[in-house]
Amino acid sequence: MNEQKHNISNGMRQSQLFTRTKRENPSDEEAKNAQLLIRGGYIYKEMAGVYAWLPLGLRVINKIKKIVSEEMEAIGSQEIIMTALQNKEVWEKTGRWDDEKVDIWFKTALKSGTEVGLGWSHEEPIVEMMKSYITSYQDLPKYVHQFQTKLRNEVRAKSGVMRGREFVMKDMYSFCSTEEKHMDFYNKSTEAYLNVYKRLGLGDITYVTSASGGAFTDNFSHEFQTLCEAGEDVIYVHKKDNYAVNEEIFNDATLAKLGAEKEDFEMKKSAEVGNIFTFGTEKCEQMGLAFTDSEGKRQPVYLGSYGVGITRLVGVLTEIFSDEKGIVWPREVAPFVVHLVALGEDISEAESLYKELTDKGIEVLFDDRIGATAGEKFADADLLGMPMRIVVSKRSLENGGAEIKGRTESESKIIPLSEVVSHVQKALQ
Ligand code: ATP
Ligand code: MG
Repeated sequence: MNEQKHNISNGMRQSQLFTRTKRENPSDEEAKNAQLLIRGGYIYKEMAGVYAWLPLGLRVINKIKKIVSEEMEAIGSQEIIMTALQNKEVWEKTGRWDDEKVDIWFKTALKSGTEVGLGWSHEEPIVEMMKSYITSYQDLPKYVHQFQTKLRNEVRAKSGVMRGREFVMKDMYSFCSTEEKHMDFYNKSTEAYLNVYKRLGLGDITYVTSASGGAFTDNFSHEFQTLCEAGEDVIYVHKKDNYAVNEEIFNDATLAKLGAEKEDFEMKKSAEVGNIFTFGTEKCEQMGLAFTDSEGKRQPVYLGSYGVGITRLVGVLTEIFSDEKGIVWPREVAPFVVHLVALGEDISEAESLYKELTDKGIEVLFDDRIGATAGEKFADADLLGMPMRIVVSKRSLENGGAEIKGRTESESKIIPLSEVVSHVQKALQ
């Protein structure tokens, strides 16, 4: 597994955590996701649309990355990291250095005066790079992906981490020799994306959505849209079949292509959590990426580009999985599965349970703080949103063990200390 790579360890003591929870919503945030994430100490706001990821928030990101990594590697992609500083000349080849064409560029200059761009996308740079590695048909197909911080000078940044000026994207690129092979991978990536959203707990409310653009596939690109009131998009969801159409192209021509009627669809608010795009051979032709086929003839390469909004997903998950008390993380992305809360001065029983649980590979946030009141600790547990809360107190021990409850359950159960691990393991199955 990938645990090591994305640095997910089993336990954390709350007494050692430098972040603090806040009772009050920050006054300068309208978005629920940013309010809750800031109050929980998941993120720190540097400026509008620019957030630092703190220990708990980073764990959520790493959980999402791990799921995405596994699904991308399963379809044959290799992980890389491209550079944040980009070459002007590379983008000039397709005309996309122009601020008229791309209106979210951050640009800067070297001491020498040479202009450079700050990566908002890596489509052109990666095609340029692959010219060093793809020359013959034997070099194809190739699939690569990265988790990269994109920089975009967005006009509006009012949706918290759902629209950042700096945000983490997973972007993958496919390089194929024929349209057939290209489309085969495009379809595989669609399935891989659906797996990702399913594993994140968003499967039921995420739709493959036809959107404008794309070199073929009937001139659509495909977005993955998750139903979400706080989302910035509007889609039309087919009432029976499992797909949607972005409002931008919800017109007679699109409906005719899809063989559907207006009445078949329902309008919904949504957030774009992924976007896959086919360039056909156009971009590689513009940039001069070609290969020699088995007969020695030069042929252009088919390019696909596949994005997932990693940090936007944290925002979407927070918007969807939360209640009036705080966040309610799905287990797969929760920073910890268990929030172990010790009450009172003598926390030795809780200490042993912490050791036992983490030794068994169960992820535990241990509220070992002496001095915080029970009320404060419970409010924090609700705000932070781990799926399972286990309380060890004088009273719980007198009652026969630890009090266990799910984040949204109102009643807890007493489980003997010796059975807590097996109880948790069972719940995790
Ligand atoms: P949008 O339409 O929301 O502006 P986009 O179409 O420009 O997004 P892409 O370039 O396709 O986005 O990026 C791939 C994915 O990255 C998007 O599907 C989205 O999930 C995420 N993303 C894009 N812009 C942002 C942003 N400013 N902040 C956070 N995530 C973003
Ligand atoms: Mg998009």
